[in-house]
Amino acid sequence: MDEEKYRVPPKTKIKLKDFDPNDTSLFDGGKKEAKAAMVELNQKLSELQELLYAEGKHKLLIILQAMDTGGKDGTIRSVFEGVNPQGVKVAAFKNPTPLELSHDYLWRIHQHTPARGEMVIFNRSQYEDVLVVRVHSLVPEEIWSKRYEHINAFERMLTDEGTTILKFYLHIDLKEQAKRFFARVEDPTKQWKFNPGDLTERERWNDYMQAYEDMLNRTSTAWAPWYVIPANKKWYRNWLIAKIVIKTLKDLDMHYPQPAEDLEHYHKRLLEMTLSEE
Ligand code: AMP
Ligand code: MG
Repeated sequence: MDEEKYRVPPKTKIKLKDFDPNDTSLFDGGKKEAKAAMVELNQKLSELQELLYAEGKHKLLIILQAMDTGGKDGTIRSVFEGVNPQGVKVAAFKNPTPLELSHDYLWRIHQHTPARGEMVIFNRSQYEDVLVVRVHSLVPEEIWSKRYEHINAFERMLTDEGTTILKFYLHIDLKEQAKRFFARVEDPTKQWKFNPGDLTERERWNDYMQAYEDMLNRTSTAWAPWYVIPANKKWYRNWLIAKIVIKTLKDLDMHYPQPAEDLEHYHKRLLEMTLSEE
């Protein structure tokens, strides 16, 4: 698998228009086949997560960023389906509260980074502070422009201290977003997701693309890479992210902890106990 082609190399200048949101080139088949393949991937991911939890050594942080309707919620639902909820946490970052705003922008983030044995998924993240904040000039440029470096250093610290970081930008186009907004307006089971403010954001699409492009170019590092995930096709998005997460976990070379002493003695005793209980 060559998922590396979606990885943004450090210190390069990618252009988002060179990434096709409809791309499905690494998967041999279509929606039906991908859905079938997901069953196995969910199972594999679940086993690896169990191992991560049991070993209690590594920490995995997965960051999801996207435009509205880009598929952050759907990815969490589909990719992590069947994973034991004990070892996985989701942190969603909304409009900052007054308390959060009274601190630096990384304060609320750091509280949710994974502990040993944990997998944490960020639904939005510190990157909102160079995206929505930049597009709407919520702070002056001289403030937000310094944040790329802070974030790189923050992520460097996390990885130095044992965290593995994966960052996924779910790439959809304007046409796909319209389709998904129509569904949110028309379908009573999806209306709750619709926020009238989302259309104002849609009007700033080009500004957002510029902000995303700069984010990808300035913060894809050797220690915390960004992947641009083609996300118009949900099945491909899910399949690709599952593959990358599984590969990353496999590369950690994890092992179940060895018991502190030989358990043969307990095995014998248990056998005797259960026999005498009959
Ligand atoms: P949703 O994830 O669709 O429920 O929406 C959350 C909203 O919170 C989005 O409009 C984000 O842009 C906004 N948001 C998240 N983080 C920040 C931030 N640091 N500053 C301003 N708005 C934010
Ligand atoms: Mg929303």
